[in-house]
Parts: sequence; structure tokens; C-alpha cells
Amino acid sequence: MIQVSSHNKEFFESDTWNSIKKSLQEEYGMATYKNWFVNLDLVEVGTSEVMLSAPTKFIKEWVVNNYAKRIKELFQKEIPAIKSLDIIVKKGKQNTTDQIIIAGGVDVTGQNIDLFNYSEQNNVSLGSPLDRRFTFENFVVADSNKLAYSAAMSVANTDNSIAGLNPFFIYGGVGLGKTHLLHAIALKIKENNPSTNVVYLSAERFMYQFINALRNKDIISFKEFFRSIDVLLLDDIQFVCGKSSTQEEFLHTLNALTDLNKKVIVSGNKSPSDMEGMNESIRSRLGWGLVVDIGSPCFQLRRGILASKVSQMKNIEVPDEVLDFVATKITSNTRELEGALNKVVASSSLMNEEISLDGTKKILSDLLRANEKAITILDIQKIVADYFDIKVADMSSAQRSRRIARPRQVAMYMAKNLTPRSLAEIGRKFGGKDHTTVMHAVKRVDELINSDNEFKNDIECLNRMLGQ
Ligand code: ADP
Ligand code: MG
Repeated sequence: MIQVSSHNKEFFESDTWNSIKKSLQEEYGMATYKNWFVNLDLVEVGTSEVMLSAPTKFIKEWVVNNYAKRIKELFQKEIPAIKSLDIIVKKGKQNTTDQIIIAGGVDVTGQNIDLFNYSEQNNVSLGSPLDRRFTFENFVVADSNKLAYSAAMSVANTDNSIAGLNPFFIYGGVGLGKTHLLHAIALKIKENNPSTNVVYLSAERFMYQFINALRNKDIISFKEFFRSIDVLLLDDIQFVCGKSSTQEEFLHTLNALTDLNKKVIVSGNKSPSDMEGMNESIRSRLGWGLVVDIGSPCFQLRRGILASKVSQMKNIEVPDEVLDFVATKITSNTRELEGALNKVVASSSLMNEEISLDGTKKILSDLLRANEKAITILDIQKIVADYFDIKVADMSSAQRSRRIARPRQVAMYMAKNLTPRSLAEIGRKFGGKDHTTVMHAVKRVDELINSDNEFKNDIECLNRMLGQ
């Protein structure tokens, strides 16, 4: 945390804003940054609120609906006292402000939407509000997050914390859905039993509240508050690693709550054993409970997440081929994936055009260039195997059954068309097959494309998945 003295306040503020802009650029990518953030200016920083200005009403609304929450979090990281973020329009008469915590925004089609419905805040809470969109229903499940999802469901749905499930620790990289799952658990517990005292907050906020309590000589109320809750969800514990007094206090809270059989759910970017600077007692206490990880999303999951996000937008339809395309192309992280979708929806709506594949390619061209990498034979084998539901290893096997042989021929055909490899090189990558086998496969697939429409559709779909 940074202490600000008044003489360097202005310098500190513009420096803070610059570093937040830099984080936004890193998190969402250059294209999104240029669209939405580059022209946002800092107007002022008060004791508990920040005011930014946007050049147009449209940009303001888009930022309020899609990014304000994150921008506020980034400010809070630097200046924990910040409670609200207002965005005004710089020029013209539309000088309205939006309080993001309670604001219903306006979507790209001009309708009111209820993105920040935080009506159910804890009254006297040191915790943070919950985002009602982050439910289990809106969470898309695939192999990489299945375990975390089902464990989270059990934690949410069991009355008393079962030994072995408590504390519950979820870890994984940026944008993989940890915060989403924590919110989903909190919302489900509240739904099952509205009187449960559930408190969600980031570890940074915990630290801020703790330091505040120390400063105000009110540590007793702080302890009472955290000892009296039924369920504690602490997000991003890595941010307090190395901060020994905060970790001490968290350890006492953790022990007090788990001794009383209250649920404690924690997230972090690494497993407790790999997390540097973690208090040893916390590490071992977390190890008594359930520790699960979330892995990187596969194509199906990225596709599913996009579909889920579209279904939460009102009156917006996005063709399947566009979703296929975006999910194939943007593989870096889920936030960038969402950013790309938002950009397509916003730009099409601005230009008053239907969302199309060609339009999408144009809108995302900058972003795609950044994500682009040459297709390899292994990429093709993976995508084709996944599509026809066979194992990647089957691509190199000698099995001749049609179920396996046909997808293998398709993959050979695509390797010939989409990579610069020779027939012999391709043969080698398919378990050491002869170049004539590859030649035969290419010929056979060509014939089938011309004679079988369903097959032709499969190939077109695969081409799209491979970004062609
Ligand atoms: P993390 O906390 O792990 O960095 P978040 O929970 O903030 O990630 O997820 C980033 C965004 O991606 C959120 O909008 C979230 O709803 C979305 N997201 C991530 N995983 C999934 C999923 N499996 N299903 C639906 N949305 C997801
Ligand atoms: Mg998170």
C-alpha cells in the first residue's frame, strides 16, 4: 500500500493513473486498450472517489458496463480508500455521472441493463458486493475446470463444512474463473439460506481493513466482525503473501472460523505449496482442506464461455461462425476473449451492421495479428481429433477402422493445405506413414468434399476452427 502525502498528491495521482492504464493494456491487449482506454482521462481523485472522463457518451457507457469494475479494483489496489468510480463525458451537454456500484448501465443498443445489481449488499460489512452474473449457471464446465466446479458446488451445497472440504482452496492463472466460482459459491449459499452471513472480499481488501482497524484502534471490532461470519471467501491470497502481520491476522481468523466449523474459501494464483512468501501455518492449514486447480481453457470451453456471455446480453445475436472464429483465434486468456467479443458487438452496433464473420475479421484484425501463430501439424491433429471425438494418439496409430482412419485422412489433408510441410514430412508426423498414404488421403478427402455435403460442412467447420 502506498502512503500519500499532500505535497506529492498530484504527481502520485497521475502516476497511479498511468500505471493503471498500463495494467489495462496488459490485461486486455492493445486493441481493446486503444478502443476504450486510451482516451480516458483522470479528472480527480477524492478521498473515496475517482472521477474519469471519456470523450463520448458511447465510450463512457461501454466502459461503465464492461470495464469500470476492473478499473475501480485497480484504483483500490493503489488507494484502498476508493469506494466509487464516476465517469463523465468530457465535452457537450451529457455531463452525467454514473455511480458504478449501483448504476444500471445502458447497453450498446441503448437499453437499460442491470449489470451492477448489487442490491444484496451486506449491511455492515467489511466485505465486497457480489456480482450477480457470476453464478454456477453461467459457469461453463470442461475438463480443465470440472473438478474445481464440482468441488465448489459441494462446498456451496453442504450444510456443515465437511472435514476434508474445509478450507477450500482454488488456484489457477489469470482469467480462469476463480473469482467467478467464489462469487457463485457465495450466491448459492445465500440462495440456499438467505440468513447466512457470507462475506466475500479480496485479500488486499482484507489487508486494507486490517490496517485501517489498527490505525483507528478498532481492532476488536475488526476481529469480532471476522469471527462472527458464517462463510468467508478470500480472493487472490497471493497479494498478502510476504505481508506478515496481515497474514498473522488472517491465520487467526482462519483458525477461529474453521474451529467453529465455518466455511472458509480461498483463491490464489498458485498452489499453497508453490506460493512464495506464504505463512507456513497458513500453508499447512490450507493443506488440510481441499485444494483444486483450474487449468487453461480448451477450444470447447472458450466457445462455451463466449456463448454464455452472448446469452447474457440482451437482444444481441452473434452467428455461430463468429463465435467459432473468436474462440479459435483468441487463446491467450479469458479476459481478452471477452474483450474481443465485446469489441465485435460494440463496433457492429456502432456501425449499425449485423455481426458477420467478415466484419469480425476486420474488427479484430489488430488483435488477431498479436495472437497469430503458424499452424502446426500437431494443432491440426488436436483440433481434428477433438472434433471427431478420437484420441490425438489415434492420429499416429495403424488402426484402419473408418471411425479412426477418416479423421486421420482429414488431418493429413488439412496438414497438406495449411502447412508448408511435404507429403513425406506429414507422413512422419502421423506415426511414420509413407508419403503415398498421405497422397491417397488428400485425394480421398477431395473426392468426399465434392460428393458428400455433410462431409463438406465438417471440413468448412474445421477450417474455421483453424482460423482459415
Ligand atoms: P480469475 O479470477 O481466475 O482471474 P475471473 O473469475 O475473473 O478469473 O474470470 C474472468 C472472466 O472470465 C469473467 O468474466 C468470468 O465470468 C469469465 N469466465 C472464466 N471462466 C469461465 C467459465 N468457465 N464460464 C463462464 N465464464 C467464465
Ligand atoms: Mg480473480
